[in-house]
Amino acid sequence: MELVVDSGVKKMEGEAMRKNQTLICAPIMADSVDQMLILMQKAKTSGADLVEVRVDSLKSFNPRLDIDTLIKQCPLPTLFTYRPTWEGGQYAGDEMSRLDALRLAMELGADYIDVELKAIDEFNNALHGNKSAKCKLIVSSHNYESTPSAEDLGNLVARIQASGADIVKFATTAQDITDVARVFQITVHSQVPIIAMVMGEKGLMSRILCPKFGGYLTFGTLEMGKVSAPGQPTVEDLLNLYNFRQLGPDTKIFGIIGKPVSHSKSPLLYNESFRSVGFNGVFMHLLVDDIANFFRTYSSLDFAGFSCTIPHKEAALDCCAEIDPTAKAIGAVNCIIRRPDGKLFGCNTDYIGAISAIEEGLQGSQPSISGSPLAGKLFVVIGAGGAGKAIAYGAKEKGARVVIANRTYERARELAIVVGAKALSLDELSNFHPENDMILANTTSIGMQPKVDDTPISKEALKHYSLVFDAVYTPKITRLLREAQESGAKIVTGVEMFIGQAYEQYERFTGLPAPKELFKNIMSTY
Ligand code: NAP
Repeated sequence: MELVVDSGVKKMEGEAMRKNQTLICAPIMADSVDQMLILMQKAKTSGADLVEVRVDSLKSFNPRLDIDTLIKQCPLPTLFTYRPTWEGGQYAGDEMSRLDALRLAMELGADYIDVELKAIDEFNNALHGNKSAKCKLIVSSHNYESTPSAEDLGNLVARIQASGADIVKFATTAQDITDVARVFQITVHSQVPIIAMVMGEKGLMSRILCPKFGGYLTFGTLEMGKVSAPGQPTVEDLLNLYNFRQLGPDTKIFGIIGKPVSHSKSPLLYNESFRSVGFNGVFMHLLVDDIANFFRTYSSLDFAGFSCTIPHKEAALDCCAEIDPTAKAIGAVNCIIRRPDGKLFGCNTDYIGAISAIEEGLQGSQPSISGSPLAGKLFVVIGAGGAGKAIAYGAKEKGARVVIANRTYERARELAIVVGAKALSLDELSNFHPENDMILANTTSIGMQPKVDDTPISKEALKHYSLVFDAVYTPKITRLLREAQESGAKIVTGVEMFIGQAYEQYERFTGLPAPKELFKNIMSTY
């Protein structure tokens, strides 16, 4: 598909640096024209290419005067949208006035107007063939429920195209992340400029990867959460977190597969590191319900590497054609690489990340002793999921005596049998202190944002531990770590494990040495 950036579009700063022509459009929603003008300046400063003036958000609207002011005073090209309530917008008035206002925007010099497919015949009739050559007509369709089949989407695009659209736009809703694949398929094969979005958190990929698949534009908000449609990222994130201007057809796709997943700092870490060495990849949050279905759907070589988190680390084992022996022994995979033959290889880097951080924490400024400082210690692991298995396995490997406490006792028992450990239920943990100088590692999500007041063990019991580690890293200092510190224990944060496990993943993703100092710097700033 040939992408044409409208020659009427004003030149953007830094355009020479762009590797693609996909535009970033900032929706402008405000009560008054004056507020809109302020937001337009902000859009320009943030690096957006154009603004979508959502006329339906205005509390009062004098079409000729307001449209003229908004076009003349906008520092960026304008797209006028006057969305009616029946298409998910705020305008509830009569249809003729709405279409007249859009016609006026066209006459007064808007660069684009958006007319809904359901209203396009009426709009075309009212135009009487007097369509401005300068203004591009976007004909749009929105589905707030689901994403239809590829065949139905193809038919929709054909109907929009036949209506006289210069640019086709459709937005659907992701019930599952695999819905996005159908939209990529339509975008990449489109013969006309196309804006194709999948709304909702599970549709995020559709908004970031437009330049890879040839989309005409994507929407980026000026402020987190102030969206005109569900799932929009900010302009700032598109530009600075996802390196949007650098993406192209050859960009390799990476991401963290989880549920929930939006808290993960992995995109921040990897994208900045990719940018620092000019590696052509993008790393995204991937909200996945069914990991096997995800890999069945996204099976091309473009989908190159994945981190894997809650609750998929065990199910990931069955998706891989080959598994590293340590990951097999642990029974959990947290890193998946697509080999050149398309098959998936799984390994576990949690083990190295956590255990080396705990060893460093124990050694502190002491000269390093021969053998592991974990040897002979009583090491209590809370949790028996992916991270719990990795840490229990690692501690045992280092010669520790391991105890596993888990909410579901049966899972603790199963893991204890595999690793050669003792099992407890979580309820028994606070009264379990056969000796002092023990090590505690929380590997559950207890205490993770937003439930930051939760903790897996009473403060009283913490006095029996000389070092406490928490795999949770949002927040960095959890309630567990704060209380451990107050009880006199050394603490090791999940951030240290996070950095440690990411070194090896980065090297496997890129084939390049991990920029260790950069990783530490990035993680120290939050
Ligand atoms: P997982 O495989 O889903 O395992 C979750 C574990 O937490 C299970 O043992 C589960 O117990 C337990 N659990 C969950 N909610 C609980 C609750 N409300 N009360 C008691 N126990 C609960 O998840 P995972 O991949 O191991 O991840 C676990 C945590 O480690 C997450 O917070 C994750 O962000 C963190 N993590 C951090 C890093 C890092 O680099 N810092 C790396 C990996 C993981 P049941 O068996 O009873 O369900």
